[in-house]
Amino acid sequence: MIIVLKPDITEKQIQHIEERIKKLGLKPILSRGVERSLIGVIGEEDKLRATPLEAIEGVEKVMAVLKPYKLASRDFKRESSVVSIKDVQVGGKSIVVMAGPCSVESAELLSEVGHLIKKAGAKILRGGAFKPRTSPYSFQGLGEEGLKYLKKVGSKEGLPVVTEVMDPRQIALVDKYADAFQIGARNMQNFDLLKEVGKTKKPVVLKRGMSATIKDLLMSAEYILSEGNMNVILCERGIRTFEDATRNTLDLSAVAVIKQLSHLPVIVDPSHATGKWDLVAPMSMAAIAAGCDGLMIEVHTNPEEALSDGSQSLKPEKFEELMNMTKKVAEAVGRLM
Ligand code: PEP
Ligand code: MN
Repeated sequence: MIIVLKPDITEKQIQHIEERIKKLGLKPILSRGVERSLIGVIGEEDKLRATPLEAIEGVEKVMAVLKPYKLASRDFKRESSVVSIKDVQVGGKSIVVMAGPCSVESAELLSEVGHLIKKAGAKILRGGAFKPRTSPYSFQGLGEEGLKYLKKVGSKEGLPVVTEVMDPRQIALVDKYADAFQIGARNMQNFDLLKEVGKTKKPVVLKRGMSATIKDLLMSAEYILSEGNMNVILCERGIRTFEDATRNTLDLSAVAVIKQLSHLPVIVDPSHATGKWDLVAPMSMAAIAAGCDGLMIEVHTNPEEALSDGSQSLKPEKFEELMNMTKKVAEAVGRLM
């Protein structure tokens, strides 16, 4: 249920409505818009149907939401959301590029890559300290040591940092060092993890599971939003199909579909989607043309010796070329870069 508030509603009236909802055992979630504010109601809606909410001052109308995701839907919030990762806004006019190595391998690598991606125009540093690897024998990440390097390089270069959290038990630690949490494809439906990051206020980059539908992705976002954290950025990173020419199939239609269904910002990760470094630039350009709000790109100074995802990692000079190419596409579709 969504309660649309009158434009001239007072703070006191908003509080009154929120209290009424809580008294019914339901949870109100306020969304302040430029034109109008709304209150999303979470819980058993039957209880609300018996209450004449329209009778309360400040309420314009009460609407049922037919979609299973409520807070993530455009019905709940018509204007597109802008999520700030420190001072970087994702979802506005600018296309935001997050870049860095797949894994934080060493202080030297991160410092070099951090410097070069910043110089090329990236706005956020990415890198995994906890790695979800298919094999338990593969490099699992440096853990807290990696988080420390991320924080250090991020501060030195003036880049906010995003890194993956795989388990609710890691949240407090990752929270200490990172500016945004990444929930990886393999954990998109780890509902306990989603609920726990939802209890923080820190932005969350939620990656689409490799076998997840768009609806599944939005339902996972709903888990985070319904705990009160509205700072969710969705990420299309390719899905499994019969096609084996690429690591995954980049579902670019998901960008346009999500833009219709949801107010949340959407970014695209062409590195994991293709698995091949020479496909990353063309897919980045296509993603921007399709309407995404940002890109997540893997960059490594020596991909041949990378401990993970070397074959899809760009050398810094290739990354710089990508930035120049994508900028032109961004401008052509009325975005900034
Ligand atoms: C990553 O970003 O390095 C990663 C593991 O991505 P995904 O969860 O999309 O596979
Ligand atoms: Mn990777």
